[in-house]
Amino acid sequence: MAKKNIDWANIGFGYIKTDKRYVSNYTGGKWDDGAIIDDDMITMSECACVLQYAQTIFEGLKAYTTEDGKIVVFRPDLNAQRLANSSRRMEMPVFPEDRFVDAVVQTVKANADFVPPYGTGATLYLRPYMFGINPVIGVKPADDFQFRVFATPVGPYFKGGVKPLTIKVSDFDRAAPHGTGFIKAGLNYAMSLHAIVTAHEEGFAENMYLDAATRTKVEETGGANFLFVTKDNKVVTPKSDSILPSITRRSLMVVAKEYLGLEVEEREVFFDEVKDFAECGLCGTAAVISPVGKINDHGKEICFPSGMEKMGPITQKLYDTLTGIQMGRLEAPAGWIRVIE
Ligand SMILES: *Cc1c(COP(=O)(O)O)cnc(C)c1O
Repeated sequence: MAKKNIDWANIGFGYIKTDKRYVSNYTGGKWDDGAIIDDDMITMSECACVLQYAQTIFEGLKAYTTEDGKIVVFRPDLNAQRLANSSRRMEMPVFPEDRFVDAVVQTVKANADFVPPYGTGATLYLRPYMFGINPVIGVKPADDFQFRVFATPVGPYFKGGVKPLTIKVSDFDRAAPHGTGFIKAGLNYAMSLHAIVTAHEEGFAENMYLDAATRTKVEETGGANFLFVTKDNKVVTPKSDSILPSITRRSLMVVAKEYLGLEVEEREVFFDEVKDFAECGLCGTAAVISPVGKINDHGKEICFPSGMEKMGPITQKLYDTLTGIQMGRLEAPAGWIRVIE
């Protein structure tokens, strides 16, 4: 195996074309056998459902090299399950969960030279997605779909050390009650683009979205779930039907309880109580946890005691333990690590 000549530690989080991708087509009411192909371009009708009515869903996970040199992926079965849930909500056919995991494995194998070496902090990001591909002009779901998985190497999320973020309470809503906030659909991102550009222009890294109905409860950011730590070291995460169930966050809650012996709570979190927390972090595949140092609520600042220099102590422990499990330095719970043979 000859690794690609890439400056792994400095590639950033952007799309780099790799050699192979997986494709399976759904036509006539069934999925074909699927295959690894070379062509990175997609040709479709100008009237494809995805282009007109945004019928598309996706997943995100990583392949990386462990300390002992194995290529692994983290809990791909949960991505399979989540894509199936997204499919059902979006009137799309379910891509069978075992085939999803197999497609991920095939894509990683086919691009093994792009899996960054251990210790670089870089990973091979995998993007499974599915979209309605046949022409649709009256509003209805597509009949034909394409499922794909591509891979792109991404650099370490925090170059030159972790820096706590400053975020703002958004005046926009991310997800409506009874809407699509709990699925991983492009549409949830399309409507967040204006909000994130606005936040960036104002100098904030991210938006904290509150529940759309009452604007009193914490939901999540555009692409990460919140974890809070109370002053007596309890780990708290918001519960809501309009939050995307982050696999990283669910894993961190297990780590907190089973590895660190901490009390954990998934419950409604009122924005009013955020000022009383000791630590705050954002959880997602990309960064595992990004610490939040400060939240700006319309000019009023909430400054966490962990400060703007480093992660809070519990956040750090959670981060070290989960990344230790992922990188093979700590024993993983059964089924969490899928080795690519
Ligand atoms: C993908 C995503 C997350 C993070 O989920 P992970 O499974 O941990 O990567 C959180 N919130 C939203 C809205 C997302 O789309």
